Amino acid sequence: MNINILDDNEVVKLKGLISDAQNIIICCHKSPDGDALGSSLAWAEYLRYIGKQPLIAIPDAYPDFLQWLPNSEKVVRYDRHSDVVDPMFEKADLVFCLDFNDSQRLYNMQTVFDSSKARRVMIDHHINPSLECDMSISFPELSSTSELIFRIVWQLDAYEEMTTHFAVHIYAGMMTDTGAFTYSSSYPEIYFIISQLLTKRFDKDKIYRKVYNNYSDWCIRFRGYLMYQKLNVLAQEHASYFVITREDMKRFHFIKGDAEGLVNEPLRIKGMRLSISLREDTDRPNKIWISLRSVDNYYCNELARDFFNGGGHPNAAGGSLDCTTEEAEIIVRQAIKRFAEIYE
Ligand code: 5GP
Ligand code: MN
Repeated sequence: MNINILDDNEVVKLKGLISDAQNIIICCHKSPDGDALGSSLAWAEYLRYIGKQPLIAIPDAYPDFLQWLPNSEKVVRYDRHSDVVDPMFEKADLVFCLDFNDSQRLYNMQTVFDSSKARRVMIDHHINPSLECDMSISFPELSSTSELIFRIVWQLDAYEEMTTHFAVHIYAGMMTDTGAFTYSSSYPEIYFIISQLLTKRFDKDKIYRKVYNNYSDWCIRFRGYLMYQKLNVLAQEHASYFVITREDMKRFHFIKGDAEGLVNEPLRIKGMRLSISLREDTDRPNKIWISLRSVDNYYCNELARDFFNGGGHPNAAGGSLDCTTEEAEIIVRQAIKRFAEIYE
């Protein structure tokens, strides 16, 4: 099966950029998810294999359920170690931008990134890239950045030399960006890739359990409470939303990742087309993080852009608001009204 994604010129260009570079940084978006982290760790593994020593710099913490990823402890968090990362950006000659296409997604790390003179290669699967790069490898139709990394390493003829860790990173990234292969994954190449990954011998079911069956008892009560007490269902609009306040988080000893994926849960209601979650920032007052999910041809990324200063994929998008939860709720209801008008 042909899974190559680069043309011959691009292969030459990519190889040249890498071989010319001494100091390489790999970075990904704020609140790294399984794909952001998995693709970064896998790409670092490849770069080490060809004799480079890349630094993986991430804006802030990644969730607890990804702590087990091999080598994740070597990743440097900008919010904790800007003293390490700032000088690295200054002397870097090549930066890989993985799983984002807009430097705003770097959040606190954006300033140092924007001022770096290093060359940039973007490897990403989000729509409408706005990042200026020396090389842009952008495939919005593919499941994940991890899948792109696999295809590139495969095309560069290095997959055979990769370790089990590499395969685990790629598998974890692809799995988390497809809801364990329940969306964005209906093309045969995905299963060809998985079959190749499994030749490296790892227990894929264990990876599933480590990621998805890893709740604390507080976490599962928190999620149950939100669905029981806080879910607003607007049946006529085929939409729903819930608001997670700081008080809710305190009450249930919230830690990062506890609300992960919960926005998908209301989509299990028959006929539901759109689900929106609102979460107060853990520290900053009047900062609300928004996640949107939708199904089929009911798109939510335009709502993210028009109402929540964000964007994303057609069925999975996000953004943020600077206001109180009451004000945010009014905006959410306006967004749902618009959604219902478009798709009535
Ligand atoms: P999540 O709900 O998991 O935070 O985000 C879902 C998707 O929405 C992400 O994969 C990303 O594509 C997109 N997204 C989230 N926040 C933003 C944002 O602020 N700006 C843009 N452009 N996309 C976002
Ligand atoms: Mn991704």
